[in-house]
Order: sequence, then structure tokens, then C-alpha cells
Amino acid sequence: MGERILIEGGRVLDPSRSVDGLLDIVIEDGRITALAPGLGGKDREKEYARILDARGLVVVPGMVDMHVHLREPGNEEEETIASGAAAAAAGGFTSVAAMPNTDPAVDDEAAVEFQVNQGRRAGKARVYPIGAITKERKGEELAEMGGMVRGGAVGFSDDGSPVRNAEVMRRGLLYAKMFDKVVIDHAEDPDLAGKGVMHAGLVSMILGLPGKSSASEEVMVARDITLAEITGGRLHIAHVSTRGSVELVRRAKHRGTKVTAEACPHHFSLTDEAVRSFDSNFKMNPPLRTADDVQAVIEGLKDGTIDAIASDHAPHSREAKEVEFQDAPNGVLGLETMVPVSFTRLVEERGFPLARFVELLTIGPAKILGIPAGTLAPGANADVTVLDLETPWTVDVEQFRSKSRNCPFHGWTVRGRAAWTLVGGRIVHEAADRSQARGAAVAAKGRS
Ligand SMILES: [Zn+2]
Repeated sequence: MGERILIEGGRVLDPSRSVDGLLDIVIEDGRITALAPGLGGKDREKEYARILDARGLVVVPGMVDMHVHLREPGNEEEETIASGAAAAAAGGFTSVAAMPNTDPAVDDEAAVEFQVNQGRRAGKARVYPIGAITKERKGEELAEMGGMVRGGAVGFSDDGSPVRNAEVMRRGLLYAKMFDKVVIDHAEDPDLAGKGVMHAGLVSMILGLPGKSSASEEVMVARDITLAEITGGRLHIAHVSTRGSVELVRRAKHRGTKVTAEACPHHFSLTDEAVRSFDSNFKMNPPLRTADDVQAVIEGLKDGTIDAIASDHAPHSREAKEVEFQDAPNGVLGLETMVPVSFTRLVEERGFPLARFVELLTIGPAKILGIPAGTLAPGANADVTVLDLETPWTVDVEQFRSKSRNCPFHGWTVRGRAAWTLVGGRIVHEAADRSQARGAAVAAKGRS
């Protein structure tokens, strides 16, 4: 079936099995079949259909982004499952979890199946739908979770909106527990958040913009942790952005509550100071917070309070974003900048161990979703990301595979990029300089 591939000479880093060393990887029929030093014999040019020269590169399990918005169905001019999956592959992601706030919302079996099929057709990253907790994400009646699980949903969320009614959320946690699925919490108290368009603090006061307090997030985190405790359900706090939220999750974990959390690159690399530009590419929900919150999120990522980095990739058209800050929709792109921004902020600037960085992007999110990803164990799906962590490059939104351009990191010079992304043993992304290098090698061979 699949061709034999050798990934040769890279530093293989797999936190799921505490592997870190110079190893070769053999891929056959879409699976990893061997992992050891010096697997490439004399006849390797004949034995393998492709040999990826990973010397100087870091080979990690295919990365997982557990929080993306792919806009299909309903807003295909901003993103489709195909364009989102292509952006994922280019960003080094082999699995993504798609939030259900499409139009219409993904709240039944047929809608979940549609997304699964579109993902398969795209043939890039694996697309795992998250089903809505409530019908039409209205927060009133529970959606048909059983049907959605049959269709392929790996978790539930009304993301984009909170579940305002605590009794509905309690029942959602209880039902999701019957299917052993996680409930992903967009933690926001809509009454406290009010009409806020940015973090409520000194900067919002100076700019005269209505703010959302940290408390508008934290009271919901506290409420839902309590609901997780009384139901025994699995709760995951999406896009944690405040010191108080990090502390609530930390204490709940110490008590043994089944709670996990994710943080987004923008929340640990930017502050509300950026809003002084009135650039709507700094508008998202939850909003950019203060430097102290950034510090707390980074501490949470380091000490295990936060289990995953997720992009909250939220494409919007130029027309939608190019309006007054107050009127612009929330959300920014993330799939094609998550690795470099996180690597630069956490490893280069904060000295995170590389293994922890990789864990947060692989086995961390894979475990929460319960998907077969995040490991390079022999026998596993050959989902592999080969990272170039050395070569600096400049973020240019015009080069993105995403259909949208709303990125707060345009123009940043960063390091960390996928040289190759493989899904089930197929190369779904190859950085331009790699294919050129290969082309040059082939040309050289041709001449000799
Ligand atoms: Zn959200």
C-alpha cells in the first residue's frame, strides 16, 4: 500500500515514551515500523521510496491542535475544511479538532459525518469534529451526543459561547461522561463580560473601550470545576487567559478533579498593550490580558497545570476585520504560527525544556481528546512532524495556506517551522527549501 520511507539522522523527541536521541525512523504501510540508530543500510536508496534527511532537525510525533475553527459549513469564503487542513499540515499539525460553531452548528450525527468526510477528502491533517453541547448552540436543550459520537465526534463544546445555564452544563457533563468524552468549556460569564471588547484594565480605561474583566472568565471556570466535581465528568478549559483561571485549575487538579486546560500562543506572547494600535488583529475572545496574566499562563504551561497549547485558529475575511475595533469580530489565525511563536516565547526566551514544548503540542492534547496521536511508538500511525528549529524566517500572511489573513504575528521574525509533515506515512507538507534541496540532489545525480 504505502511507500517505505526512511527519516534519517534526526533528533527524535517523543515525550509520550521519554525518547530523545539521534534515531532513524522507518515507515511502512502508513505505520511506524522501526525506530533505532543506523537503520539506513548501504542499499537504502533502493529500499526506500523516500529518504528524508533529518540531520540537524527535530523529529516529533505529528502535532495536535485541539482547537480550530474551520468555518465549513457556512463561511467557506473565510476557510474550508480543505484550506484549514492544508494550513494545519503547513504548520506541522497532523490532527486538528474542529469547533462546532459553524453555520449551521455541528449538533447532530449528519453534521459530524459531513466534517469527517470533508476532512478525509482534503487528505491533509486528520480532522476530528467537536460536537455542540446544546442544540444550535443555544444553551437550552442538550444535543444528540450519542449520534455525534457514532458519527465521529471526539468531544463537546458550545465554543464561541458559554453554556449560560448551569443545570444544562451539569447535564452536558453527565451525558458526555457516559461516552467518556470531554466537555470543552468556553468559560465566560456573559453578564459580567457585557459589551466588553478588550480586557478591562488600565489600557481599556485609557482607550475608552468597554472591557471584559478577568472575573468574567474566572467565575465560569470556578462554576464548571464545581460541576465537574459533582458529576465526575471530564472538563477541559479552553483558552485560559488569566492568572485567576490558572490558579483555579491548579487547585482543582490538586484536589483530583478531572480538569484539563489549554492556552493559546497569543495569550502567552501578547498583552492588552497591543490594542493601543486599534488593530483588530489583536481582538479575540478571551481578550489579550496583562503582563502578569501572561506570566501566570507561562508558569501554568511549565508546571503541568495547563496540558496543551491550542491555536483557537479563527479565520475572518478582510472585510469583516477591517472595521472599527469595537465592531470587528473576535478571533485570529493560529495554525501557521503556533509552532514558531510558542517555540520562540517558551523555549528560546523562557528556557522551557524542548521535551515539555513538544509534549504540549502532541501527547498533551491527544490524551485529552482520546485520539490515536501524539506518539512515535512502533505500530502507531505514521503521523510525524519534522521540525527545523534553527532557520529564522519572517511570518508573511500572504504565504499562508489559510484562506484568511487575520494574523497578529505578521512581520515577526521567528524560528521553528515544519520541514516535513507526514500523515499516515504520506508527505502532506514539504517546506519549499527542502523540496528544492531534493530537486538539486536529483539534478546532481542526473548529471553524474
Ligand atoms: Zn472559545
